[in-house]
Amino acid sequence: MGVKLELEQLDLCGECMKRPIIIAGPCSAETEEQVMATAKDLANNGIRIYRAGIWKPRTRPNAFEGIGSIGLEWLGKVKKETGMQTTTEVANAKHVEECLKAGIDILWIGARTSANPFAVQEIADALKGVDIPVMIKNPVNPDVELWIGAFERLNNAGIKRLIAIHRGFSVYDKTLFRNDPQWQVPIELRRRIPELKIITDPSHICGNRHMLYNVSQKAMDLNFDGLIIETHNTPDLAWSDASQQITPDELLTLLKRLIFRDEGDLKSMISLAELREQIDKLDDKLIQIFEKRMKVVEEIGKHKKESNITILQSQRWDDIVKNRISLGSRKGLSEEFILKVFQAIHQESINKQTLVMNRNQDEEK
Ligand code: PEP
Ligand code: MN
Repeated sequence: MGVKLELEQLDLCGECMKRPIIIAGPCSAETEEQVMATAKDLANNGIRIYRAGIWKPRTRPNAFEGIGSIGLEWLGKVKKETGMQTTTEVANAKHVEECLKAGIDILWIGARTSANPFAVQEIADALKGVDIPVMIKNPVNPDVELWIGAFERLNNAGIKRLIAIHRGFSVYDKTLFRNDPQWQVPIELRRRIPELKIITDPSHICGNRHMLYNVSQKAMDLNFDGLIIETHNTPDLAWSDASQQITPDELLTLLKRLIFRDEGDLKSMISLAELREQIDKLDDKLIQIFEKRMKVVEEIGKHKKESNITILQSQRWDDIVKNRISLGSRKGLSEEFILKVFQAIHQESINKQTLVMNRNQDEEK
């Protein structure tokens, strides 16, 4: 389905909206001293947009759930004393009203909120007739349609300055990351809405400090437009997300190390095009093999129907998994990769066989 958003170029504070857009500040506003000390150090390091959560969506109750409205006054002071733009998270109409009253410059919708169309609509309704930039984090689940839906709701309410924040996705099995990046999701968002700016949130993707640089560099290599990185004057003492926050000076070091590769470098573009051609051909072959495999699967489905046996044969599936993982490891392919590929193939095979069974039932009637 085509996506038509009416977007306006962001022009918040001139230079600071040029790539890469950098947003920094603590996970949460905790005290006036912490908010001001972090803001002053960031401003001295050239950061122009300051983030701080006032109302914090926490996974379990009894954690620090944000300092509340008083934090808005501190953000007002940040703006006055440092000239930085300020941004905070809103999750309902009341938050929106308070932020607008307090003169917050940019709003963001968190990952748990953007997964909920009722909440997004409530925020959109509260913003009707208001001209303010809104950043929308990806929903916690990797559903690009739901993410796009949130942009459409805001855009239908008249919000034209929109930014996407890629912050990774919840998964049941814990990986290296706190939130699995699943880069294909923001890449698909870019394909669907090319004019929408996308910034990456390495802090919530990593959940730790040591991977922040690599994830930030990857975002730059994918040509995304910026980074939002949690920064605190005393990270180890932070009241939320302590393990992923860095100091303003560490942020500066990270930003200085980033390499910006030139999109237009002709030579590398040409060799890239050649390699991409090879990939296209290989993918074509893969699809032909999938087609052949599914034809065999349909034959097996017919046999199972005739012999009245179940589609799922657990022992056979277990044997396949073990055998394919062993074959893969001999070719340098990880167990995780082989398992994912064969789980997807197996699921499609089950779907095909179910169709075969049902088709036969209909014909018998
Ligand atoms: C945050 O940015 O502090 C936050 C709560 O993020 P998310 O919505 O991505 O979990
Ligand atoms: Mn956080």
